[in-house]
Amino acid sequence: MTIGRRQRRQQDSAYGSLRSLLSPAARVPPGASCGAAGLNERRSPRSRVQRELARLRPAVATLSRALHRRAELSLEERDSVRLLRNFLRQQGFSVRTGAAGLATAFVARRSLGRRGPRIAFLAEYDALPGIGHACGHNLIGAAAAGAGAALAKGLHGGAGEVLVVGTPAEETIGGKVLMTERGVFRRVDCALMFHPSTENRVYTTSLACHSLQVTFHGRAAHAVSSPEKGINALDALIRLFIDLHRRRHRLPREVRMPGVIVEGGHRANIVPDRATGRFTLRARDLRTLRRVEACFRDAVRDAARATGARADILALDHPYAEMRTNRALADLFKEELRRLGRRTVDTPRKKMGSLDMGNVSQVVPSIHPYVAIAPPTVPLHSRAFARLAGGARGRAGLRAATTALALVGLRVLSDNGALHAARREFETVRRRAARRRR
Ligand SMILES: [Zn+2]
Repeated sequence: MTIGRRQRRQQDSAYGSLRSLLSPAARVPPGASCGAAGLNERRSPRSRVQRELARLRPAVATLSRALHRRAELSLEERDSVRLLRNFLRQQGFSVRTGAAGLATAFVARRSLGRRGPRIAFLAEYDALPGIGHACGHNLIGAAAAGAGAALAKGLHGGAGEVLVVGTPAEETIGGKVLMTERGVFRRVDCALMFHPSTENRVYTTSLACHSLQVTFHGRAAHAVSSPEKGINALDALIRLFIDLHRRRHRLPREVRMPGVIVEGGHRANIVPDRATGRFTLRARDLRTLRRVEACFRDAVRDAARATGARADILALDHPYAEMRTNRALADLFKEELRRLGRRTVDTPRKKMGSLDMGNVSQVVPSIHPYVAIAPPTVPLHSRAFARLAGGARGRAGLRAATTALALVGLRVLSDNGALHAARREFETVRRRAARRRR
């Protein structure tokens, strides 16, 4: 797929048609003869949300630019949280920071009036060292805030509650993993977010993953005159690498166990008494990941036994679960993207990474669709992608994603059938996974 002039033209025309759809509302002068409030009540919920989206568009773009400029690293996103919090407070949300014990996490909420479903838009806002917003999380943060604000205002007086949840450190510890474990999503009916990409793809999958650090402890000795008196910790680590490579053939094909050596001795004439490696284990789902981890631990034990070294294993993160995209919700997102003139790719993805949204998707019906802001030649986590995330293509993706998210939210809150379909599917998938575990 190339996102060239043709697709840009499609996008432009889509926004053109959206503009024309929205322009009658924009043309109504405040206090016109029929009365702004009366007119507002007569509008359909969809056109009220669309009008709010149009009204908020410049502010959402400004918010995205400001986040892009800050480009704060994981767990240091203080200014970014302040920007999002100010925007959401101005839009009538109450905001509590420090959710789940993470200083740069927050939960913002705005009730529509009566009790009803609770819908959460998830914001990310951390950047990468040296290359800024090369994953485009500024767009994710701004879209979540914009969609939440437009939906809450457009449906004001209805039933339900709109949440915007600030989830920090996606690039390192995976804030959503801890937030899920600590119950932030317990009373949420569905969780929606988007991620910028090189394609429009709504049925996202991801691998379960877990990072571990292994340290072998040996005994130092002169490496030339008395190596037999030492225990070579680096030997143990190298054995582990070789053994993991051998064991991979016995594991499912998609399993990955890449590792790096972070400590392996200091001088060639000293037998290394300490060697440390870091590994990330990846598998199709959490169940397979547990099997892979057991195999990994066996390999560590064997390497220690063979060399006489002692080993300890440290978990570097909480395991990431696989992404279970809720198809009922993803179908709605796809429909909205198509209305905006974007074609989606629906074939399974060949290469997959891991997402902390995977853990959220295990406890609540969730989507994590991708929206194109870059041509396929531009990789994520590159300087070129960071430039696009702060430029016109990023803004076009932001408009499409904010609109589609808000309108999916509208359908969940205003159509019982949509929410029931999402819940039914979620329960079916969960029961099936539980049966497989037994
Ligand atoms: Zn990302």
